[in-house]
Amino acid sequence: MARPPLNSCENMNHRRRDAPVSHCPQCGGVVNATLRQTQCDGAKHAVAVRQHRAFCVDCGTQLINSR
Ligand SMILES: [Zn+2]
Ligand SMILES: [Zn+2]
Repeated sequence: MARPPLNSCENMNHRRRDAPVSHCPQCGGVVNATLRQTQCDGAKHAVAVRQHRAFCVDCGTQLINSR
């Protein structure tokens, strides 16, 4: 009965084999490990926060603390 919380994220990037981003913006999980890690700076993360992304799609850093 108890489902593992692993696939609780509904972001469509998890179902794509060629996701355009390396990390999921909703859970921060890796969706495409073949993409190169990008060096992020604060400005880039600020833009992501404005787009209401909980996680950075490039480095997987948590941007918004979900309570
Ligand atoms: Zn996800
Ligand atoms: Zn980042």
